[in-house]
Amino acid sequence: MRIVPLEKLRNIGIIAHIDAGKTTVTERILYYTGLKHKIGEVHEGEATMDWMVQEKERGITITAASTTCFWSQTYKQSKEKEFQINIIDTPGHIDFTAEVERSLRVLDGAVVVFDGVAGVEPQSETVWRQADKYRVPRICFINKLDRLGADFDFALSTIWKKLTDKAIALQMPVGKESDFWAIIDLIQMKMFSFEGKYGEEIKVHEIPQDLFQEAQEKRQFLLEKVAENDEIFMEKFFSESFNEQDIREAIRRQTLNYNLVPVFLGSALKNKGIQLLLDGIVDYLPSPLDLGTIKGEHLKTKEKIEIKLNDEEPLTALVFKIMVDPYVGTLSYIRIYSGILKRGQTVLNVSKNEEIRIGRIVRMHANFKEEVEELHSGDIGAVVGLKNSSTGDTLSDPKFPILLEKIQFAEPVISMKIEPKTKADQEKLGLALNALVNEDPTFRVTHNQETMETIISGMGELHLEIKVDRLKREFGIDVNVGKPQVAYRETITKTAEAEGKYIRQSGGRGQYGHVWLRVEPLERGKHFEFVNAIKGGIIPDEFIPAIEKGVREAMEKGVLAGFPISDIRVTVFDGSFHEVDSSDFAFRIAGAIALQEAVKKAGLVMLEPIMKIFIYTPDEYLGDVTGDFLSRRGKIENIETRESIKIIEGLVPLAEMFGYATRIRSITQGRGFYNMEFSHYDFVPQNIQNALIEERVAARK
Ligand code: GDP
Repeated sequence: MRIVPLEKLRNIGIIAHIDAGKTTVTERILYYTGLKHKIGEVHEGEATMDWMVQEKERGITITAASTTCFWSQTYKQSKEKEFQINIIDTPGHIDFTAEVERSLRVLDGAVVVFDGVAGVEPQSETVWRQADKYRVPRICFINKLDRLGADFDFALSTIWKKLTDKAIALQMPVGKESDFWAIIDLIQMKMFSFEGKYGEEIKVHEIPQDLFQEAQEKRQFLLEKVAENDEIFMEKFFSESFNEQDIREAIRRQTLNYNLVPVFLGSALKNKGIQLLLDGIVDYLPSPLDLGTIKGEHLKTKEKIEIKLNDEEPLTALVFKIMVDPYVGTLSYIRIYSGILKRGQTVLNVSKNEEIRIGRIVRMHANFKEEVEELHSGDIGAVVGLKNSSTGDTLSDPKFPILLEKIQFAEPVISMKIEPKTKADQEKLGLALNALVNEDPTFRVTHNQETMETIISGMGELHLEIKVDRLKREFGIDVNVGKPQVAYRETITKTAEAEGKYIRQSGGRGQYGHVWLRVEPLERGKHFEFVNAIKGGIIPDEFIPAIEKGVREAMEKGVLAGFPISDIRVTVFDGSFHEVDSSDFAFRIAGAIALQEAVKKAGLVMLEPIMKIFIYTPDEYLGDVTGDFLSRRGKIENIETRESIKIIEGLVPLAEMFGYATRIRSITQGRGFYNMEFSHYDFVPQNIQNALIEERVAARK
């Protein structure tokens, strides 16, 4: 049985710059949506923390990958909570953009939280662009309006300036900073205050005389903007025959069309405005029905398919997060797109082409786990102990093997050596690393056959530090790690051809593999394409996969300095074979030899990861900070002034940024900081490339 009809379901994420108040907003949402317990005493500053600690003891699960709660708009004053809201957790730290991306993929709408003092911060811009990429309809919440220096109009203006001119305020604050106490709703034209110990009692007031005109003007602005964007409402607006519901419906239509972004306001810490934000989530963010269809590909026929999102279609679901729960074990969080997932059912893991049985299914609520028999299209829940599944895998009905579009993840840019402190832990380490890889597609483990070293790679220093820390805390394995290394790559700059032969015909069974390969540069980030241009069976089809395998192996090893080769197209266009002596093995080696020879003639160069960076510094240190930045091969793209702070936006090679956190603190007396994320790969300057190659060669001797 469905809990609510599809149109009353909301899958949302709350996304924010770190410290904007995402955690506090989430806690308050879970509280108002009907937890039985109370929020802890609200003390200045400590309140959230206190409450968190207490709730942790009681097992609150605001860190679950998805938490389910229920709500009805306050203005309906209904006793029943009509709407189901699944809140999908999104991380706040930039090192984990992959986490943000994967959650954006499974949520249908988002609440973006801003700090009422700072307004839009650079990281909010990054997240906003990611949300654009996945076309996620969203609403904004300007938080912390109780803080000294908070200014709703300023914060809104930063949204207009930096993110979108489609943002429209649906509310107006009453009182500033510590006097902020109520909110005017410009649709209802009423004022709301939040009384009782935890703001749980909503009082409705008439708008005070002295604010009435301002509210009127803001409402007029709002209505005009809605009318401008929505034909249906436009007619009603001009004939002056519309009600509150007409306005809400028009805003909803245009929010779903990406033409409007409704803006709400409040103070999560001071318990103001969260219930009205919840109304907004229900009123303006999409239900799974609004998505229409989702794209997939049939595993066998490769036919592109649009899947309708309802219970009647065959099952398609996406594993979007794997987490270990101390009580129940591994939880695979999944979003059901179509069909029904039942306990005990056998499904196909399409990504792995493997049938698996669904065991227990759970749904996470704020303070308890609910065992359920089934999950329906549109819904989110977790399967306990799902075998051999990784983040990003598609599950489907074995009779309709549909592969959903993969979640795109950024490539790791940093790597380091890892080994257990005691030899006895070797096997345990392998298993633990495997578990971490299954959870997080941006975390990779490779083994260097020559040096017998295990290498871990990820998105940044912090990303790897956290994994190492988890190995110790969760798996009880002490490890030694090497210095973090930049994940360089090799690539080619021109087209070349070469021959590879592996022929042995002395005694016993011979070997015969012979290929001609062409290599061509591909666009940055396209990695690898393999083309079979063999005509007339001069190499039988059965050997082509072995050639590709040899090519891939050779690419992985690199040629110039032992870094993986990337962004090339490899075409096998000629060669020969022997009736008796040819084998997969011989063609694999021939493929590898030909690849090495071809790239040597194709202008091999090294690539390095370039990072996008935002550095924040007080005015007085700008000179020192930029000087230091430029000496790191940094390129400044923009310098912005925000009050007494300068924000430097630029690009810089990752190789130059180790230990930068400490450096920026020391230059700025502890007041500066930065955010950095991967941007693209680019050529390494010649002199640096030469030095790197020498270093590698020396290290191998
Ligand atoms: P997150 O990093 O986005 O999850 O932010 P948190 O919810 O942890 O909040 C960061 C800090 O801001 C904490 O110290 C909160 O107590 C504080 N905070 C959150 N919301 C508000 C608010 O509405 N007003 C004020 N003054 N502080 C807030």
